Amino acid sequence: MSHRIVVAPVVTMDPALPRASALAWAGDRLVAVGEVDAVRAACPPDTPIEELDAVVVPGLIDAHLHMQRAGLKALSVPAPGGTWDAASYVAEMDRTADLDEWPPGSEPSLADRLEGLRQVQPLLHALGITSVVDPAVTVDEMRGYQAARAAGLLSMRVVAMPYLDPALPEILTRLDGIGASTGFGDDFLRLGGIKVYFDGEGMKRQALLASPWTPGTTDYGVQRIPSGDFASIARFCASHGWSLGVHAVGGGAVAEILRIFADIDASFPLRDLRWQLIHAYLEPSPSSLAEAARLGVVASLQPSIHWHNAAGLIEHLGERAVPANPVRSWLDAGATVALGSDGPFFPFDPRHLMWQTRTRMVRGLGDPVAPSLAVTGAEALAGYTTGAAYAAFAEATRGMLRPGMLADWVALSVDPVTCSASEILTAAVVRTVVGGLTVWSPS
Ligand SMILES: [Zn+2]
Repeated sequence: MSHRIVVAPVVTMDPALPRASALAWAGDRLVAVGEVDAVRAACPPDTPIEELDAVVVPGLIDAHLHMQRAGLKALSVPAPGGTWDAASYVAEMDRTADLDEWPPGSEPSLADRLEGLRQVQPLLHALGITSVVDPAVTVDEMRGYQAARAAGLLSMRVVAMPYLDPALPEILTRLDGIGASTGFGDDFLRLGGIKVYFDGEGMKRQALLASPWTPGTTDYGVQRIPSGDFASIARFCASHGWSLGVHAVGGGAVAEILRIFADIDASFPLRDLRWQLIHAYLEPSPSSLAEAARLGVVASLQPSIHWHNAAGLIEHLGERAVPANPVRSWLDAGATVALGSDGPFFPFDPRHLMWQTRTRMVRGLGDPVAPSLAVTGAEALAGYTTGAAYAAFAEATRGMLRPGMLADWVALSVDPVTCSASEILTAAVVRTVVGGLTVWSPS
């Protein structure tokens, strides 16, 4: 296997060696990360060395991106000028956020799914993304991913969370399935946790809150699954090796889910299963944050939704919505935070979303909302690397640059830890590498 060396400032996200000045890989794995001389000494004498005028960070992992739907939408929405580039794709997905991913009344074929993936992966790589957790994968989408993997077409590492929508007894039968569970697969395609919807959408006033949407009424929002049915699924998952990701927007939903989780944890410790609260942005209580941390439940949070919905939520809820999406509070409580986008239906450029969590600027308002809940550059990057890798069951191979781990890295024009928030927003992605292969560089 031939070795390669890149010399550049490296932000490793490895607490044992946070900064380096070179890295080397052979095949798809890193073999050395450190000072230039040490990295050279770890490689054969004729190893090519490239000096890169950029800062190298671990490949970014979007912990919540519907990639196959993003691919279909790339096919079904005409590209301005005929072909997409990342900037036009990001802008067009924002403009058409309310449209379905595929024209209603027709079904995409398997070939459509593969073509969509072929088109969309380079657009996401151009944003620095090397891995995604696809957070609600239907049976057809799972077939699409398996076929894409078999055809050698996946350049994005995918963790697919199965979504099942039949009645409860059938869900449990299907989950028993062929015996596979979370973790089955390989470095490019593996099964994540089961996806379950507990409440609805915030902007539709469906988030299940602990106190009513309108004071003095009984309008707490929507609970989409009875607690007993949810507990049955959760208990089954705990005893059969499945992780579980729960769509829960409101604090009432979050509290009820954690109550059920704590009950199960007493007999099946949950920490290693990395169950997730997904979204959890409206009024999660301080005790819920602490309970999530205690149980090892991951907070899968989307700065994109906060960016997109905050002004509207403040119209609905007034002051109550100002501290929405308190990423700072989750971190301070000791919870693992994985950042993601809910793309393509919300903005999915990681530079934009790291800027958002660092500033708490939101669409339509001139000033930041509750800026005391902002995070640092290091914390924002951790949400896209170490935190998301943990949520993807991949922290042993991804999210850090350390010898033995996968050679997935991104070169940026700025250091995302030390640069200002506005600098990350306008940073250039100079190169994206997956498994030692360049999957994107500017032409
Ligand atoms: Zn989603």
